[in-house]
Amino acid sequence: MNIAQNLKKISISIPQNVSLVAVSKTKPNSAILEAYNTDQRAFGENKIQEMVEKYENLPKDIEWHMIGHLQRNKVKYMAHFVHLIHGVDSLKTLIEINKQAQKHHRIINCLLQLKIAQEDSKFGLSKSDVESMVISEEFSALKNINIQGLMGMASFTQNKSMIRTEFKTLKTNFDSLKKNITVNFNLSILSIGMSGDYQIAIEEGSTMIRVGSSIFGIRNYD
Ligand SMILES: *Cc1c(COP(=O)(O)O)cnc(C)c1O
Repeated sequence: MNIAQNLKKISISIPQNVSLVAVSKTKPNSAILEAYNTDQRAFGENKIQEMVEKYENLPKDIEWHMIGHLQRNKVKYMAHFVHLIHGVDSLKTLIEINKQAQKHHRIINCLLQLKIAQEDSKFGLSKSDVESMVISEEFSALKNINIQGLMGMASFTQNKSMIRTEFKTLKTNFDSLKKNITVNFNLSILSIGMSGDYQIAIEEGSTMIRVGSSIFGIRNYD
């Protein structure tokens, strides 16, 4: 498994307006450095503790993306450095992120996770949840967060047409929210697509893909 070659292969196959987050969860610092040495700067992790350890031991110009489900009581550990939080799925979590961001005099970039998969196991908000949340007073009071876009995960399936349909739904919701909600909101990022489905995601409007195993090899555990 040659990380540099894998990265190059993916980078040249994606359009310029699509950014690549290299998902390095469970992988050692040496693997991240191999990618870093080919100029990859955006890395994604799904556990806050693991991301903090990597942040402390790796070059400081890495952009760290939190892509996993958030435990609110751990937001404080990453508030001083996290670049983008992908999986925000509640107002409560946004309030906590805002509070921790304030302590560090930062504005933290977030994506709202929309539920698009049929599976019950996937987290996320519905479009109407987002619509009612953003007009609430509590939401308007959050000055230290910046909602930059939406994130979604398709069902875990080999059925490509089902995955495509789910991505299409998310893109439709993205376009509609972008058009109809102009206060407190500036949607520009659509984070969809992983190793198995990023080509479909790009065809359906992804602007940010999160790719792990196609770069770093399969994981033994998550
Ligand atoms: C692990 C993970 C990825 C990357 O998955 P691969 O199939 O290895 O590319 C992308 N997004 C999220 C939210 C993940 O947890």
